[in-house]
Amino acid sequence: MKPFGLVSLFILAALPAYAHIGRALQVPSASDLASDFPVSSRRHHLRARASPKNAADMAKIQDPSQECQEYGYSASQALSKKYPGYHIASLVDGDDQAQQVWSEVQQSGIIPSDIQPRGATKGHYGISDQSSDSYNNDKDPDCWWTATGCTSPKHPNIGDDLTSCPEPNTWGLTFDDGPNCSHNAFYDYLSKNNLKATMFFIGVNVLDLPFQAQRALADGHDICLHTWSHRYMTTLSNEQVFSELYYTMRIIKDVVGVTPRCWRPPYGDVDDRVRAIAAGLGLRTIIWSHDTDDWNIVPDGTEATSKIDSNYQKIIDKQTQNKLDGKGVNVLTHELTENTMGEFQKEFPKIKEAFTNVVPLTACFNVTQPYAENQYKYPIFADFIKGNVNPQGLPSLDQMPQINVSSKIDVTPEKQQTSAGGFSSASKSVDETTESDDADTSSSKSGNGSASQSSSDSSTEGSSKDGGSNSSAAAVSLCMSGLLVPILLSFAML
Ligand SMILES: [Zn+2]
Repeated sequence: MKPFGLVSLFILAALPAYAHIGRALQVPSASDLASDFPVSSRRHHLRARASPKNAADMAKIQDPSQECQEYGYSASQALSKKYPGYHIASLVDGDDQAQQVWSEVQQSGIIPSDIQPRGATKGHYGISDQSSDSYNNDKDPDCWWTATGCTSPKHPNIGDDLTSCPEPNTWGLTFDDGPNCSHNAFYDYLSKNNLKATMFFIGVNVLDLPFQAQRALADGHDICLHTWSHRYMTTLSNEQVFSELYYTMRIIKDVVGVTPRCWRPPYGDVDDRVRAIAAGLGLRTIIWSHDTDDWNIVPDGTEATSKIDSNYQKIIDKQTQNKLDGKGVNVLTHELTENTMGEFQKEFPKIKEAFTNVVPLTACFNVTQPYAENQYKYPIFADFIKGNVNPQGLPSLDQMPQINVSSKIDVTPEKQQTSAGGFSSASKSVDETTESDDADTSSSKSGNGSASQSSSDSSTEGSSKDGGSNSSAAAVSLCMSGLLVPILLSFAML
């Protein structure tokens, strides 16, 4: 398998020249993106020194340069033929399974016909001025988060987005853009500190780094989607939106063996058209309530480390100054570079001092069954904070199943997922008196998090702080990248 796509994505992320697009959106300039995914195989020129045979082997490697060596696995060629390449996903020729699911989503009638794709710029890495300026922010007919921060859909059959963690004094721990090839030290740190997180994985990264993806499940984290190629989803066609989500669901099922039921839009860019397609695929949309902007940390980004420190501190200060309205936070951080991962490790002691609890979103929302597969059981909040942090039934690193090709996935529309403990807005609450042997410790109200949501929950504040436009709640909350920057380490070795 050629990881050139990842390398290229990294190149895009690291480009120094940026154009100012729309409201405070910064994306690579047009000339930078002239060749969207230039072929590069520099990783192939590295001397092969590490050849992990499985996830257990991979987890033992401590040298980041060795972690990021290309490695083959038995199903890699067959798998890559069944998936889109390193570009915006679309239906793969001859993929009857995908075509059937796509037909079912279309025929369900869930996709609004009155919302068109936004004007796109820069290879769908940005939204045009015209598109954002002509949108009616006051009426916000499409519940377009990028324009207004809207999280309560205005079209039918779509659940509200999940934003803040409803549990007070609680830091909801999330990491986007993984799996990262050199994440072992970081995952070791999480394990050592009994921390579990919600991981939002990019499809092409799972395809290229299956053993790293498997480690996330074995370590007890929960896995959600972060699309196939990390574009502004509202700029894509219906079929592209479907494919970006569907193929990421399926690669996670093929590689890790679970079918996620949650996703986070890159850059937070979602409207009711995109939400509806996700809901048709059974996915709950998750935004965030607070943003560290860690993706932009130097040297890969442009913000000084002190600025990112300050962003973390502002969230901590809100807690210590009682400015969170009795809610917890759902914080956007990234498994993107050594520096973003290192930044969390540096800040964690302060976080731990200020917040009583640091938990994954499954615990925040009392989600015990985050996947279509029901044999895995994640702890509810009350159990998690008592120290019972490990989900039940997960395979260990040594027990990871063989990687499959084109697994059939269970697609149940989001509103039809009514069993207890799911991410769905229709999921029944988990009865804590039966789930927990000490119900008094629980302050939770809902099994699906819907109780935490109010319309246009403006606690999504990554925006106002340096956006300069009160209508661009999302504009500067860039969940940047897609871009396996850890490949940087490989470059550094050359
Ligand atoms: Zn992202």
